[in-house]
Amino acid sequence: MSAFSRGPARRRITGVIAMALVPLMVAVGVAWAAVTDNMFPTESTGSSCVLSMGHPPCQTDNREVYFYMDSSGEYKLESEDRSTVNDAIDGEYRPTDLAFHYDSSPVFEGSAETDIVYQEGSTSVPDSADGMTWCNARGGAHYKCDQQYIRIRGNGNYTYGLVCHETGHAVGLQHGDYSTPMLNKTDSRLGCMTTPVKSNDLGSNNRENIDGTY
Ligand SMILES: [Zn+2]
Repeated sequence: MSAFSRGPARRRITGVIAMALVPLMVAVGVAWAAVTDNMFPTESTGSSCVLSMGHPPCQTDNREVYFYMDSSGEYKLESEDRSTVNDAIDGEYRPTDLAFHYDSSPVFEGSAETDIVYQEGSTSVPDSADGMTWCNARGGAHYKCDQQYIRIRGNGNYTYGLVCHETGHAVGLQHGDYSTPMLNKTDSRLGCMTTPVKSNDLGSNNRENIDGTY
């Protein structure tokens, strides 16, 4: 009796799996409708996260993004800068498939570190840049990062557009010259990922790459 009832049940399960695969394949197709693939890794990047300051980082390790803003010490954000970070996350990243959560008890070691740590400061930021993002701990796959740091200069440089840009790096978005096909670094279709940053908008190309990845 049990052998007789297992057969039909197994066929029903197979049917459910096949149906679930169809929407997944459609979602990947949507990502390729984007102007360019600027989500790490691309043909113009390495395939693994590089753990060094100032190096463009890779993908964050999953769609649940926990972030922290330094609240004391050398890299503390002033209240105005904290508002700018929150505004840029609310305006540009909450409408994507990523889910941002503020982490008031940040974790700096182990296998589940706080995903993005925002800092204000200029130490080690290249003279040519107002900010930089780097990965300091890989997460799972070699192209994913468990913890990214974003450091932006103070004195008026902590702008909405630059927070949009550096947060884009922290979830894997690259500049135009690291995209496939390659775009001019100033191409407006890159939204806030142009260099220099000219727009406050994440824009549809970056949104499609994020939503196709996470
Ligand atoms: Zn950049």
